[in-house]
Amino acid sequence: MKTSFFEYSYEELHSLLAHNELNTSAATLLYNWYYKKKLQAPCVDNISKSTLAFIEENFLFEWPEIDTVHESKDKTVKFLFKLKDGSSVETVLIPFHNKYSICLSSQVGCAMKCSFCFTGKQGLKRSLKTSEIVGQFLQAWKWLKDNRPGEERILNIVFMGQGEPLHNFDAVKKACEIFLSKHGTSIGSQKITISTSGYIPGLKRWADEIPGVNLALSLHSPFDVKRDELIPINKRYPLDEVLKCIDEIPLAKKQFVTYEYLLIDDFNDSVEDAQRTGELLQGKRAYINLIPFNPIPDSNYRRPGQEKVHQFKEVLDTLKIPTLIRETKGDEVMAACGQLNSSES
Ligand code: SAH
Ligand code: SF4
Repeated sequence: MKTSFFEYSYEELHSLLAHNELNTSAATLLYNWYYKKKLQAPCVDNISKSTLAFIEENFLFEWPEIDTVHESKDKTVKFLFKLKDGSSVETVLIPFHNKYSICLSSQVGCAMKCSFCFTGKQGLKRSLKTSEIVGQFLQAWKWLKDNRPGEERILNIVFMGQGEPLHNFDAVKKACEIFLSKHGTSIGSQKITISTSGYIPGLKRWADEIPGVNLALSLHSPFDVKRDELIPINKRYPLDEVLKCIDEIPLAKKQFVTYEYLLIDDFNDSVEDAQRTGELLQGKRAYINLIPFNPIPDSNYRRPGQEKVHQFKEVLDTLKIPTLIRETKGDEVMAACGQLNSSES
C-alpha cells in the first residue's frame, strides 16, 4: 500500500532508502524538491531509475484540498481544507509586514471541550496525520505564491488552530521534525509555537522530544474554580501541576513561555484576577498574551470593554510581567482564535 511521502521525517526517509538498498542521497534531493522548493510535480532530478520506481510504487504526494478561502481586509486568510475522509479543518495565515504566521490545526474538533471555544463544541472527530498537518503549510504557501506573489514567506508556525496539539503528540512532533529539517523548510525551533490547554502527558514529553520549540499555555485564570469551568481538563491536570511541568522544561537563552489569558467580561477580568495571575508568574521567564474573548455562537460570555482590558494589563505592568494585548485579526471571517469550527464554515 502507498503511504504519503509527507509522513516521513528526513531520518526515516533516509533509513527507508537504505533499508531498500537505494542511494540515500535521494533523501536530500526529495526533501529539497518537495519541502524547500515546495514543488508538486514529480521529482526527477538526478534520481536513479530504481529509486524512481520505488517512489512510484510506495509514495503518494497529495496535499489536503482547498475547499474554500476567505480573505479579510486586514489580509488574514482562512482556508477550509477537505481531507481524504471528507472531514475538514481550518488553517489561518496571519499577516505581519507582508510576511505571515501560519496557524495550524492538529485535530478535527477537540476532546477538551473548553467552554469558550467553538472548536471544543464539535467534540473530537479524529486526530490529524503528520501529512495533513504539513500539507496545510505547503498548500497555504502555494496559495500565497499564486495569489500574492512575492509574499510567500511564512516565518512562524503556531499550533493554535483546531485541536489540542499535545493530545496528538506523535503526529505533531513529526510535523515539527519535518519543519525543522535543514534539508527542507528549515524553520528554526524558536519560530514554532505549540499552544496547549495544559495536557500534562504531552508536557512531560516536551523536554526530550520537542526541545527548543516555544510553549504557550492557555492559562485563562489563576484560580482552579474558574479554570475548571473554562478548561474542563483542569480538573484532571490542575494548574499547579501544569506549571510545575512547564518549569521543568529547559529554555534557551532569551526564550520565554507565553501564557495566554482569555479575557471574559465580569468573569476573569477583575483586578484581583490580574493580581493573582501576576503573582503566579512572577520570577518565571514568562510573558502574557491578553486575548479579549472572540464571540462564538450560543455563548453567554462577552468580551470586556477596552478599559477593563487596559486595567488588567496595568496591574501586570506594575508587577513587571511583560504583557501584550493581542489584537484580533480576521474577525470578520471568523478566523480569530477559537472561532474555528469546520462543521459550520
Ligand atoms: N488547544 C490549544 C490550541 C488551540 S486554541 C489550546 O487550547 O491552547 C488556541 C488559543 O485560542 C487558545 O489560547 C485558546 O484558549 C484560544 N481561544 C479559544 N477560543 C477562543 C475564543 N472564543 N476567543 C478567544 N480565544 C479563544
Ligand atoms: Fe481544544 Fe484548545 Fe478549544 Fe480547548 S481551547 S477546546 S483545548 S482547541
